[in-house]
Amino acid sequence: MRISVIGTGYLGAVHAAGMAELGFDVVGVDVDAAKVELLSQARMPFYEPDFEPLLEKHVGKGLRFTTDMSEIADADVHFICVGTPQRKNSLAADMSYVDSSLDAMIPFLKDGSLVVGKSTVPVGTAERLMERIEVATPESVSVELAWNPEFLREGFAVQDTLHPDRLVLGVNGDNAESILREVYAHTITQDQTPVVVTDLPTAELVKVAANSFLATKISFINAMSEICDVAGADVTALADAIGYDDRIGRKFLNAGVGFGGGCLPKDIRAFSARAAELGAGQSVAFLNEMDAINIRRREHVVNLVREHLGALLGRRVAVLGAAFKPNSDDVRDSPALSIAGQLHLAGAQVSVYDPKAMPNATKIFPTLNYADSATEAIQDAEAVLHLTEWPEFRELDPTQVGELVANKLVIDGRNLLDREAYRQAGWTYVGLGRP
Ligand code: NAD
Repeated sequence: MRISVIGTGYLGAVHAAGMAELGFDVVGVDVDAAKVELLSQARMPFYEPDFEPLLEKHVGKGLRFTTDMSEIADADVHFICVGTPQRKNSLAADMSYVDSSLDAMIPFLKDGSLVVGKSTVPVGTAERLMERIEVATPESVSVELAWNPEFLREGFAVQDTLHPDRLVLGVNGDNAESILREVYAHTITQDQTPVVVTDLPTAELVKVAANSFLATKISFINAMSEICDVAGADVTALADAIGYDDRIGRKFLNAGVGFGGGCLPKDIRAFSARAAELGAGQSVAFLNEMDAINIRRREHVVNLVREHLGALLGRRVAVLGAAFKPNSDDVRDSPALSIAGQLHLAGAQVSVYDPKAMPNATKIFPTLNYADSATEAIQDAEAVLHLTEWPEFRELDPTQVGELVANKLVIDGRNLLDREAYRQAGWTYVGLGRP
């Protein structure tokens, strides 16, 4: 079976390599020539653990990348993995990349082929795209469309692609389910991965519902963190205690600077915009509150710095972290970078360091100062902000670091540093939602 993957970003590039690892002949297509060039040399256009060895193993053998859409003509299954970012002037998803990629694919779809959407989209998209395919393909060419939402986590993308925790197959044609079961046969038989077969709108909704739930869990604990702050309580102990209830669970209950990245923020916004279009805005109105709690976390950290240092003009602040999460170089809607930017715009001299995200951070926020190491960022700082939970930041020795700074103030935006060790080394340690 031959597979094409349209859009080779964080999702598509790893999916393409994953499909090659499963033994398929794969072509990845992207409009970004620079990205295609790197991938064609088995080099990663973004940082993702374990991804480069997979590229090295398959590029030039079962896996190739191109900007030429006509190269999908041989493929039996086409995965759409293009971006669905937030629109410039609304909360809704920008569907122009999905639409234009499908239009470019249509002339090359052969009879009996299957188009599979993986991008995260507003419910109703699959039906709309199917109509587009039906109108544009000749009667002699029969094409099916399925939706197979993706749940991979950046930082674990290779593992999650090869061993997903579940497969959701949204289908409505005669052959889509059996073709997708063939694509994922290895996973289904070896890992006994649960398969949930649904109609198209359910599959589209599964993804946004899952992300809404995760965003809600994070914002819930962050709301508790705000209460802990005013009540003098400790949100980490609270999370441990409620997390022992297996109906609640401890995962995603770490209070801190909140969620970010290329998915959760734009997905909950697009969901609420789509629900409103369908006349059901009230049903997910709570998501706007989750969003507001999340954005407040960033302002809270800026206010903490102000509280401790007074006016921000000219104050030297070290920001540890720029990526929205560790093991990634993704800075899309990153809380760390948003906080760094707000402090900078308020007049502080901000020095940022991240082990992997410096090139991306420099691109979207070129006016910040970037250091070559954590210790360089920290040098002479009057406040140190721990904003992305890279292990190397936790390993810093508070005594040694204390000798570098002008003022021993650390704000732990992830509640993960060793609070007692910092205090013993003479630091003012400020956690979020904990004394
Ligand atoms: P991305 O921006 O990293 O990648 C999108 C790619 O699509 C880019 O390389 C872009 O050049 C390409 N593209 C745009 N228009 C194209 C066209 N007409 N033809 C070919 N290629 C085109 O985005 P991403 O993070 O990979 O996300 C892609 C989709 O997957 C989104 O809907 C996202 O919500 C969803 N998703 C992402 C993740 C994740 O962790 N990143 C996880 C699950 C789902």
